[in-house]
Amino acid sequence: MAGKRICLIGAGPSGMSVLYQAEKLRKEGRDVPEIVCYEKQSNWGGLWNYTWRTGLDEYGEPVHSSMYRHLWSNGPKEALELPDYTFEDHYGKPIASFPSREVLFDYLKGRWKKEESLRKCILFNHVVRNVDYNDSTDNFTVVAKNLKEDKLLPPEVYDYVVVASGHFSTPNVPSFPGIETFPGNVLHAHDFRDAEAYRSKRLLMIGSSYSAEDIALQCAKYGASSIVCTWRTKPMGFKWPSTITERALLTRIEGSTCYFNDGSRFEPDVIMFCTGYLISYPFLAENLRLRGRNILFPETLYKNTLWTEGGNKKLFYIGAQDQYYTFSMFDAQALWAVKFILGDIQAPDCEEMRAVLKHWIEKNQSLRDCHDEINFQTEILVDLAKESGYGYDLDCSDMFHEWEHHKHEDILTYRDKSFASKFTGTQSPLHHCTFMKAFDDSVEAYLKNI
Ligand SMILES: Cc1cc2nc3c(=O)[nH]c(=O)nc-3n(C[C@H](O)[C@H](O)[C@H](O)COP(=O)(O)OP(=O)(O)OC[C@H]3O[C@@H](n4cnc5c(N)ncnc54)[C@H](O)[C@@H]3O)c2cc1C
Repeated sequence: MAGKRICLIGAGPSGMSVLYQAEKLRKEGRDVPEIVCYEKQSNWGGLWNYTWRTGLDEYGEPVHSSMYRHLWSNGPKEALELPDYTFEDHYGKPIASFPSREVLFDYLKGRWKKEESLRKCILFNHVVRNVDYNDSTDNFTVVAKNLKEDKLLPPEVYDYVVVASGHFSTPNVPSFPGIETFPGNVLHAHDFRDAEAYRSKRLLMIGSSYSAEDIALQCAKYGASSIVCTWRTKPMGFKWPSTITERALLTRIEGSTCYFNDGSRFEPDVIMFCTGYLISYPFLAENLRLRGRNILFPETLYKNTLWTEGGNKKLFYIGAQDQYYTFSMFDAQALWAVKFILGDIQAPDCEEMRAVLKHWIEKNQSLRDCHDEINFQTEILVDLAKESGYGYDLDCSDMFHEWEHHKHEDILTYRDKSFASKFTGTQSPLHHCTFMKAFDDSVEAYLKNI
């Protein structure tokens, strides 16, 4: 593949898996095209690269990260563990199952640093502004900006494009009558950074998905006085601590009073929109741009990865689906994409590809609950891993089912449970302190006494 080039957009966990898998194949003697990775932040890590900033960054670009300081993994680490670099490999000893953000990020960085050359492929502080596919030459033109130098770079030509820019960054923000004159603070979960700021406050969380669930719990843990979570279709239904309650849809706001569908009212200090994120790829030409909602099987991605609406099977998306699995799934997708580029994997003709897509789309639409969803994503992942020759069994569905049961038994203690590593067999030790009582989530504190 002499002279061929791949443009990779984003150096978060997905993009880093592309660089990692490509480097592994290169070391095995494969002729892997040159990869240029554009990353708009000054460092790798994507969402895991925590920032205190909200709104715009130092260059006037929208802040990418939606992570908050005291976030702990919301799933067992054993279900996202990378088989060729286990947590035990990284920390030299077994650690508990639900690490804090810092601990997880440290683990990821350990794997990326193992391949010293990866960092050299990344142009930091470079944002991709425009990607077009050229029919006549069967390649892509990419325009990027060097943010530090405030300079739009000349167009570059690439043979392939891999989009790994994440999709939990552009807030979806509905509105409610009267919100303009609400005297308190109004924000989206994207801008939530530290639960300490909400000590003794009354919060209204709009939404009933992961963000509402976890931010409500964080704020209760850090001393918020009362939290109301409001739902549109159905309540989360967990056994909440006394400070958290759930109510039906918010209908209007008058002054500082919020009114709900069930006739009740609440006077919060803060309204937080936990209403999810928009699928947004503004830098891609219209015919290359994934659209829609955050779902497990985006309808235009063959094998959840290959773009089918343009770009002549040379455009890939990594991590663009809703996620139970994360790091291990991105890794299998990355290997699949690189092997596809190398010609080891082929896509069928258009008709067969449409039939395959239809099968998965219909299956996705038939899912009834979280357990169906877990099995569905597992099936997709196992298929992808098999086709790419990933070499490890990535099926962690048992862990995810158990984790869902733990959450429904007690949302306050599910992070205190222990799981066994699929790759080392080691049962994780219990953390020295329960989640609701652990306020220092530095790496040092997390690893103490284990
Ligand atoms: C609040 C929150 C909590 C989460 N908690 C967990 C958890 O506990 N466990 C878990 O496994 N997963 C969690 N996730 C899921 C998360 O999606 C993944 O862990 C992971 O970060 C996704 O990796 P990614 O590389 O696909 O995207 P991202 O991490 O979003 O990285 C994308 C990268 O692309 C860059 N980029 C974007 N646009 C451009 C551009 N135009 N040009 C150049 N660079 C660009 C960004 O700067 C960023 O570095 C959480 C997500 C959120 C929002």
